[in-house]
Amino acid sequence: MTDRPTMTTTAGAPVPDNQNALTAGPLGGIMMQDYQLIEKLAHQNRERIPERVVHAKGWGAFGTLKITGDISEYTKAMCLQPGAETPMLARFSTVAGEQGAADHERDVRGFALKFYTGEGNWDLVGNNTPVFFIRDPYKFPDFIHTQKRHPKTNLRSATAMWDYWSLSPESLHQVTILMSDRGLPQTPMHMNGYGSHTYSFWNDAGERYWVKFHFKTQQDHKFFTNEEGEAVIGKTREGYQEALFYAIDNGAFPRWTVQVQIMPELDSEKTPYNPFDLTKVWPHADFPPIEIGVLELNRNPENYFAEIENAAFSPSNIVPGIGFSPDKVLQARLFSYADAHRYRLGTHYENIPVNQPRCPVHHYHRDGQMNTYGGIRTGNPEAYYEPNSFDGPAEQPLAKEPPLKVDGDMSRYDHRVGNDDYVQVRALFNLFDEGQKSRLFSNIAAAMGGVPSEIIERQLIHFARVHPDYETGVRAALKAAHGYGADTISTAAE
Ligand code: NDP
Repeated sequence: MTDRPTMTTTAGAPVPDNQNALTAGPLGGIMMQDYQLIEKLAHQNRERIPERVVHAKGWGAFGTLKITGDISEYTKAMCLQPGAETPMLARFSTVAGEQGAADHERDVRGFALKFYTGEGNWDLVGNNTPVFFIRDPYKFPDFIHTQKRHPKTNLRSATAMWDYWSLSPESLHQVTILMSDRGLPQTPMHMNGYGSHTYSFWNDAGERYWVKFHFKTQQDHKFFTNEEGEAVIGKTREGYQEALFYAIDNGAFPRWTVQVQIMPELDSEKTPYNPFDLTKVWPHADFPPIEIGVLELNRNPENYFAEIENAAFSPSNIVPGIGFSPDKVLQARLFSYADAHRYRLGTHYENIPVNQPRCPVHHYHRDGQMNTYGGIRTGNPEAYYEPNSFDGPAEQPLAKEPPLKVDGDMSRYDHRVGNDDYVQVRALFNLFDEGQKSRLFSNIAAAMGGVPSEIIERQLIHFARVHPDYETGVRAALKAAHGYGADTISTAAE
């Protein structure tokens, strides 16, 4: 006798033998009726789900958001009121690499947060950078194609990347951050997170404020040079997973200071830049960061697949007191992320335990594959349509957002007209000390290996428009790395 649980089929029947196939004689063929063998092999064939097209390689943990500041004048969100503590999940990721990619690659890092609030899940799906490469959502699929594999060689293409970037000056801010020290953080704990988009807050009086979210690492910024990153990858491709998992396992819980920048609604018409442009920051001098709390990660997932691979973050998940903004890329992501989850995980992806809200859920959606919540979610079998006379779930007018003022003629406005793509990059460049600039130049030069000179020259013009030293620094680094362009003349003037 043993007190071990009985191994069963997925239908619950005892499995008599998990070692030996059922055959006709010791040398004979397998019997079709060895259904458990068929089930075992069929399950193995279905162990993988489609990896994310972007942000496929990720690392995650659970934790808590504690609010210490008071921004109740701006937002009615319960999870942002003084003293609120909200359980949450974080998933960090690289953007371009596949699920098996090495962790220590130079890339933007995803910084996705899911807050399980009493008013529904609030997801903030940001990056470790405050800006992004594009400001119009039409650009996203093309941009990502340049980061992924060439359709013929099946290799990453530096030519495609720099061709695209050099033809898209709005990418320059993010390219500069990517190629700077912050483009290769040592671990997920040693980087900031940013909501990146402009969102909005609204309060009980129906007043709206624009808001940007910042998560400042309390572990300090730590980065690797390209050479250090390569040395780490030579030893382990899973450096981020190891660092995050064992930090939490050992009780060294990573923390981030949470800040917001707030802009009164009508001030959006006064800034010299479009405050809804994803390639721009709001200068701290104009909109000082307000400290509102602490994010702490303190619990590892029990099962990576169930809780991290299945985690479904979408910026469309907001709660009363938080709203969106006219940021075009944000508006497109509101569709795109939920759609990705419906494709990867299925219609009922928000019923997977890691995605389930921790508050009551009542809706009238029906049926569908993997509807595991008992048919309908109204709490009353007669209330399966709306409106009804059977006390089914009803709307909550208090959750109604104040009107978002939008005006203007419908048109396809040229997103490059009236936007300065250089001034904020210059502010960043001027923050760098000599060592940071030197590493920026050599990182760019390294990434430009094999790129045709006409593309390099086109990109150098953008660098020169930021600062003459930017162009000359990269040019010198290109010469040192690749013997590039001894006789090339700059065409930077403008
Ligand atoms: P500030 O001098 O007030 O802010 C400087 C910001 O730059 C700080 O937020 C700081 O990061 C960040 N920073 C410092 N060193 C680096 C670095 N090596 N790589 C990336 N970021 C760095 O000036 P502004 O607010 O006017 O911003 C100037 C430039 O700084 C911007 O054009 C932008 O490129 C960059 N920046 C601005 C942010 C903002 O929200 N205003 C946020 C991040 C970067 P930290 O976030 O750690 O405080």
